[in-house]
Amino acid sequence: MTRVQVEVSRGVATPRAYRKPRPPRYALRPIRLPGDPVPDSRITRAFVADLPKSDLHVHLDGSLRIPTLIELARESRLELPSYTEAGLRETVYKERYTSLGDYLKGFRYTVGVMQTAEALERIAAELAEDNQAEGVRYLEVRFAPQLHVRPGLDAIQVLAAVDRGLRRARDAFNRRPEIAEGREPHFEYGIICCALRMFGAGSSCHYDTLLAAHPFTRPKDVYAMASLDAARAAVLARDTLGLQVVGFDLAGEEAGYPASAHKAAFELAHKHFLKRTVHAGEAYGPESIFQAITDLHTDRIGHGTYLLEADQIRDPEIEDRERYVEKLGNYVADRRITLEICLTSNLQTNPEMTSLQQHTFRKLRAARISTTLCTDNRLMSNTTVTNELMLAVEQLGFDRHDLKSIIIYGFKRSFWPGDYLSKRQYVRQVIDHYDAVERRHFA
Ligand SMILES: [Zn+2]
Repeated sequence: MTRVQVEVSRGVATPRAYRKPRPPRYALRPIRLPGDPVPDSRITRAFVADLPKSDLHVHLDGSLRIPTLIELARESRLELPSYTEAGLRETVYKERYTSLGDYLKGFRYTVGVMQTAEALERIAAELAEDNQAEGVRYLEVRFAPQLHVRPGLDAIQVLAAVDRGLRRARDAFNRRPEIAEGREPHFEYGIICCALRMFGAGSSCHYDTLLAAHPFTRPKDVYAMASLDAARAAVLARDTLGLQVVGFDLAGEEAGYPASAHKAAFELAHKHFLKRTVHAGEAYGPESIFQAITDLHTDRIGHGTYLLEADQIRDPEIEDRERYVEKLGNYVADRRITLEICLTSNLQTNPEMTSLQQHTFRKLRAARISTTLCTDNRLMSNTTVTNELMLAVEQLGFDRHDLKSIIIYGFKRSFWPGDYLSKRQYVRQVIDHYDAVERRHFA
């Protein structure tokens, strides 16, 4: 059957033969090698959708709804390559990307429409609603406020707009009878403020101003200055306005932009008990994770894909590579430094990884590293938390025990905005609810 016939048989009036054939949906195609575990067919999408879940690593500017992006682009007169969902999926937000640069191209448009407090508030609220709709009960949203700073909108006002959106969606959800009556865990959120390892002219109005004002300063010192200011804004936003800013993150290109430049910012965050997570070991070797731990005292690692991969070490000074990753892996495991694993995103941005069978997730689990599954960018990766968990089940053979472990770790290792006792109580309630859902589905 040709493509045209398929479209006609579905009642689509306009033949779409002109469309380029879409690449196969590799994301859900089971690719198993001999000896690989057989997936548990009783773990259905409906079951996973019902489970209480968290997402600790999701970028606000990578998770817009496409109709919202189109509407805001029209309002702000930002030119898009297409004004239809299908057109944008074909040209920008694709299934596969040729390079990390290709993947990052999509952020130009999203950040472009996120330049007002109203747009930020709306996008944050919609992200929370989309998560609630698929059973996510705890959400940590991250973004770099400085990408949205312009005259009349400072970093604290940016954080406040996002907090308003998340708070509004949380309060609306928590008015549901099963939540209000305490029968199910409520929805809660935290904001993680990102600093960038590097930025160039054109990254944002604020960064342009900063670079122009320091023409004789080394770029890495300008990045350090921006990070420190972002950390201060995060602490002030939490302490003076009561915003739910719970963490500080370092994002951006790892190669050539070491974590050490951001020591002062992370020290400030640490001294104010703002928790830390660092994008590391995503497109770079274990030594990047080492730096995140020893220079920035990170509590969690964004990705950490190559934590145990000795052959990914690029530092020529490290002689005994096997011993290096063994010691690093032991430290990460023992300290329960949690890895925020993002399967689809890794597959899309890593040209060497052609299927999830090559992903290190199973090896990390076998080494008893604390891990949780996250989406990274719901728009760029066209994914959801449920989808990421189903990938682990269908392609990596995760069983019910694995599933529970990675889901509950998300709640346990969260940067919870409340006090420790309320966190313990919440996690207990989540586990009880999890068990109840499991009993219902497996009765
Ligand atoms: Zn990320």
